Amino acid sequence: MNLIDGKATAARILEQLTDEISTLPYTPGLCVILIGNNPASQTYVNAKIKACNKIGIYSELIILPETVSETYLLNKIKELNQDKNIHGILVQLPLPKHISANKVIETIDYQKDVDGFHPINLGRLAKGLPALTPCTPKGIQELLKSYNIVTEGKHCVIIGRSNIVGMPMSIMMMQNIPFANATVTVCHSKTQNIDTYTRQADIIIAAIGSPKKITGDMLKEGCVVIDVGINRVERGNKYYLVGDVDFESAALKASYITPVPGGVGPMTIAMLMKNTVEASKSIQRHY
Ligand code: NAP
Repeated sequence: MNLIDGKATAARILEQLTDEISTLPYTPGLCVILIGNNPASQTYVNAKIKACNKIGIYSELIILPETVSETYLLNKIKELNQDKNIHGILVQLPLPKHISANKVIETIDYQKDVDGFHPINLGRLAKGLPALTPCTPKGIQELLKSYNIVTEGKHCVIIGRSNIVGMPMSIMMMQNIPFANATVTVCHSKTQNIDTYTRQADIIIAAIGSPKKITGDMLKEGCVVIDVGINRVERGNKYYLVGDVDFESAALKASYITPVPGGVGPMTIAMLMKNTVEASKSIQRHY
């Protein structure tokens, strides 16, 4: 079994980005908007700002109260769309119930949509056109590339169909490009006898949000296991992060496996930085 080290791979990518940013005649800028005080969101936002500071991206953090109106937020985004120092805009999800995530995402200029959630970017991704693509699936594809994992003609089973992970991942893996070109099956909560599919998988990507749901007995010998899940579980009076895959039993079957933490998570942030640099370069070309 080979461990896929997302932390080391992400660190390498961040180093390359640092070098690239130092050669640019301008400073790429990212604005992160955080609404409310969800502790998980605060942790993710802090990690994103820290990464910007580390590699030379200018960052702004806007913190708004849980009660902020949708109109105020949309106007703020419109201002940022016009701001020449900002090339990437990210509104941390989830949002309070009174704010429509779709409206927020569609208000962000698609050229600054570094999360890759805007319908124009998703549509362009689906058509195989250049686009800003969602960071987690993009990070997974980078991991497959870094470890030179053969995907062409393989059966890739994705568990989860969210707009953030499973759905864009399925589009990416079926494309006729390197480190994709797989035969893709997508499972979700209504899939019956899920182990029938997981046992056929050469590559399994679990994005469920349920601790240790995928166990070794559900896997084929020699498969590649990518665990996207981040689940906080209590043991004794301590909290631990575990994935959607039961690492111990899955590692006995897998040829390659990502750990949690230290697998997909660091890659997501590295890809956000990469998207910000990519967005800045394409915006600068248009000025
Ligand atoms: P989500 O929006 O809740 O989607 C979960 C998906 O899993 C849904 O499509 C759901 O099916 C499916 N599902 C739920 N229970 C299932 C079951 N028993 N069997 C089969 N499918 C099932 O979650 P998400 O945003 O995609 O995130 C998934 C996990 O990845 C979470 O643990 C999250 O914290 C983690 N995550 C990690 C990163 C990272 O950087 N590492 C980034 C994003 C998310 P339905 O569509 O039918 O409801």
